[in-house]
Order: sequence, then C-alpha cells, then structure tokens
Amino acid sequence: MIQMKNEYIQDVTFWPVDLPVTDPFVVATGTRNVAENVFVRVTLSDGGCGYGEAAPFPEVGGEDRESCLKALAHLAPSLMGRTVHDYHQLGRQLTEQAPSQPAARCSIETAVLDAYCRATAIPLWQVWGGTDVRPRVTDITIPIATQEKTLSLARDWYQRGFRLFKMKVGKDVDADIRRLETLHRALPGISFIGDGNQGFSREECLTFAKGIQRFGGTMVLLEQPVVRDDLESLAAIRRETCIPVAADESVRSLDDARKVVTQGAADYVNIKIMKSGVLEAAEIASFTLNAGLKLMIGGMLESRIAMGCSFSLVLGMRGFEVLDLDTPLLLATDPVKGGYHYEGPTLQPWHESGLGCSLSIPADACAPGRERQSSGKR
Ligand SMILES: [Mg+2]
Repeated sequence: MIQMKNEYIQDVTFWPVDLPVTDPFVVATGTRNVAENVFVRVTLSDGGCGYGEAAPFPEVGGEDRESCLKALAHLAPSLMGRTVHDYHQLGRQLTEQAPSQPAARCSIETAVLDAYCRATAIPLWQVWGGTDVRPRVTDITIPIATQEKTLSLARDWYQRGFRLFKMKVGKDVDADIRRLETLHRALPGISFIGDGNQGFSREECLTFAKGIQRFGGTMVLLEQPVVRDDLESLAAIRRETCIPVAADESVRSLDDARKVVTQGAADYVNIKIMKSGVLEAAEIASFTLNAGLKLMIGGMLESRIAMGCSFSLVLGMRGFEVLDLDTPLLLATDPVKGGYHYEGPTLQPWHESGLGCSLSIPADACAPGRERQSSGKR
C-alpha cells in the first residue's frame, strides 16, 4: 500500500467524559447512573484526525476509567510517528502492550481506523468489506426495575416503534417473570431477549424459561444466564429450554470463542469491541460464523463514537442477526455530530469518510475537575 508521507500520527489526546443516563442502568452485576467514558483523538501530521471511545464496564471487563486513562498514557507515546496505514500492526502491538485493557485499546484502535479511513476517503465499514450496507433494527434495553417502572419505560419505547425488548434479569427470578408478563400483556407483538449478566444459576434459568413459556411470551434469546466459565450449564440450558443461548461475558477473546464452540455452549456469540478491541472483535465474528454459530452485537454504555464503530462491523461484515446497539438512546445527551442516526429503532448508515462524525463542543469538554492528556506535538 502506498504511504503518503503526511499521514503520520503526531498527537494522541484523551480525556475523561461523564455521560449521564436518563434512567439508572441496573443489571444483575451492578448499577450505573453515569457512563464514565474516555474520548480519544488521534491527530495526523497533515491535520487529519480520528476519534475513539473507551466505555469500560468493570463487572464485564475488569477495567474502569482510571485504569483506561493509565493504559492510554502508557500506550499513546508508542504511536507517535507511526502511519495509520499500519492499523493492523498497531492493533497487534497494542494487544501485546496491554493485553488486559481491551476498552483502552479499543479507543485507540477506533481513532486510528477513523483517521485512516478519513485519510483514504472511505467510510469505516469499507474496511470490513462493506457487504451489508442497509438500515438495521436494534433492540432496546430495559434495566432491572420495579414492575411499574419497567412498564412505563417499555411503553415509551413501544410508542417509538421498538418491538424487541432486551430485558435485564438475573437478580430475582420470580420478579423477572412478572416483569416480562406485564409487558407481554400490555404491549402486543413484542418479543424478548433475557440478559442474565451471569446472575442466574442453571436451575433459576430453567425456572425463568418455563415461566415465560407459561404466559406465552416470545423469548428470542437467553443471553449469558450463568457465570462466564460455566459453559456446561450454558450447553444444558440450550438443550433443556430449546431457546437459543447467546454467550456474552463468556467470550472476551478468540480463545474464549473456540471454547464455546468446542463445548457447544451457545447458538450466538455477542460481539463487543470493548471486550476484545476492534480487530479481535472482527476476528471473533469471522471465526464464530465459520464455526456455524450466529452473531449478535452489543456494547457497554457507549456514545455514537464507539457504537458507530460497532455498527461499521454490521455494515461491513455479513451475518449479524441480532443488534443490541441502543445505548446512545439511553444517554441524556448526544455528544456526537453527524455519523449514523436513529429513526425509532432503525439505525441509518452513514456514507462519509471514517465514522462520519465529530464531537460537539460542550460535550467535548472533560469530566468536571479533570484535564486532557496529550502525547506528542499539539
Ligand atoms: Mg449482555
């Protein structure tokens, strides 16, 4: 590939941002009122740039914002003077330097890919082939809440056109069944994903599945009902419920995906760039499809920067059947200008270079009391 001499990384700036959610995001393993994320901007010597985002979720990936900032301070200097055309090699290098910091790596990988695509005037989805570029429908996530709150949240989304409800469950199986039954009776034509976030035992999950069956609910997927290492229970739940199972926390690397395939532990793998970094996420997706399993794609609490990168995988690769790309809709503000956009539950692709978006000014600001950090010349 021809390298243009003025496309070298000259600066990597990163800063913490607070992105409040409109309603407490409660899952079996934790609660968030604010997404404590990090934005990254890579600047090239010709003035071009690219954006990335880290959205650490400690209960899933073991990273938090402080560990991401530390990792970025460590990683950024090694990018100075490198060309963005080497994004593959840079990705491998980042994995070697920070193997257990996928969200931090993901933010840099995204910014480098975005800068590369802007420099070569292609949309990010083109990097993955650009084989499936069309509007796509996402589910909507309903956090763990009282029955009343669950219904009022779901009713609002239903009126906006959402029909696939990803229900956070796994703390109290009887209450979970009642919450889903309430929605089933109130909102015609809906279906469910039950995301246990590792909160159920095998028996509780079977009770949950039977409970849903009893009132006639449509359960499309059981996502990560039990702890990540218990692949045997995932396989048993598949057999005993005849409902497809999705592995989320169980698959954080290509090796994890191999184990899930070998043990017949899932029908779907939930791909998330924050769990593995961007390039490994694409590798896991290819592997999963070739192994005959299906793909879903999701995120942590992310703005349209990180989620745009995930959507680029959907548009660029084949085979993503279930989209859980809704978290920008759960945030109180949208700090991103341009890029893909939502029409009800439908994500509309973009056609501009890179992610096709930039950060808007007030939200470009740091979290209160914090500073930007920079490597290289400004
Ligand atoms: Mg999940």
